[in-house]
Amino acid sequence: MKPFLKLIPWYQAYKRDLPWRQTSDPYLIWLSEVILQQTRVEQGLPYYLKFANRYPTVKQLAKANDNEVMKLWQGLGYYNRAKNMLGTARAVVTLYKGVFPKSYEQLLTLKGIGPYTAAAIASFAFNEAQAVVDGNVNRVLARYFGIEEPINSNAGKNLFAQLANEVLNQKDPASHNQAMMELGAMVCKPTNPICNDCVLQPTCIAFTSGTVNQYPVKLKKQPPKVRYLHYLVVNHEGDTYVRQRKNERIWHNLYEPPCIETTAEDNVWLDPNANQIATNHRQIIASFKCKHQLTHQTIYATFWVIEVKRGYEFPLAGYDKIAINALHSLAVHRLFDKFLQLHTLHR
Ligand code: SF4
Repeated sequence: MKPFLKLIPWYQAYKRDLPWRQTSDPYLIWLSEVILQQTRVEQGLPYYLKFANRYPTVKQLAKANDNEVMKLWQGLGYYNRAKNMLGTARAVVTLYKGVFPKSYEQLLTLKGIGPYTAAAIASFAFNEAQAVVDGNVNRVLARYFGIEEPINSNAGKNLFAQLANEVLNQKDPASHNQAMMELGAMVCKPTNPICNDCVLQPTCIAFTSGTVNQYPVKLKKQPPKVRYLHYLVVNHEGDTYVRQRKNERIWHNLYEPPCIETTAEDNVWLDPNANQIATNHRQIIASFKCKHQLTHQTIYATFWVIEVKRGYEFPLAGYDKIAINALHSLAVHRLFDKFLQLHTLHR
């Protein structure tokens, strides 16, 4: 499609200089795509550099210690990505002897690689004519063609994938895909798009009809679930208690202190005056509240710091007792990390 031919020259002239754009190594391209999912470039860039430096090949990543990888990932959120990343790296080594498959179809056979990532690797590393479709590309297409179909409906997903492939530059799909994503990120932005700098402007339906702000159309999402969590941060002669989360939907494999969930914020399980935790030999010495937002959950957390007197036990089955000083070496989730960053535990 002719107007889209202007994209590559624009991209060559104005693209951001990003390290994963200077390589055709499928491993590094895949690594950048995993890190950048649901993450801004500025936030993901230091993580990409850390991982690329620590594990320069997929074989090295496949051999990595799980806890070390989670620790390196700490702060980036969506921890399942790190777990899936390790699983995919190990599958590449087991099934393909450490060499990424070269075609879109073969890449899709790897667990953890979906259509978006397969298209990104196939086009950026092997120049295969597969359109990459992400939120940026969807927004450009929705506005340019004035599409009313919601981008997150099943029909919308098929339509946008089809359109992205129709406008794809068959001679240079790698540069075209990069250019579409860059245009969405830097010019056709979610709010305040810079239409006057856009090479697609003369034929863009949303621009010419003055309806830019009406696109893309989205189906309304369910509001996030509200949860109330109470964490018991015990100081027992310089030791504390933690457990590693297993087979849970969020924060898989990460460590946290004992946790109790209540159904409402005022339904506080621990009342410092008449509670089941405070006794003569254990006392609540502080409590800290914070709100933590995840994609599908709003968490109201209270951290209760509990000091246990010398010589007394604090019975907590199923938890590991570790030195408070050793907490920093564990991969903990963002919420617990927030607490640890802000509050120094008395040791
Ligand atoms: Fe987006 Fe504006 Fe360009 Fe249309 S003209 S594609 S709305 S930036």
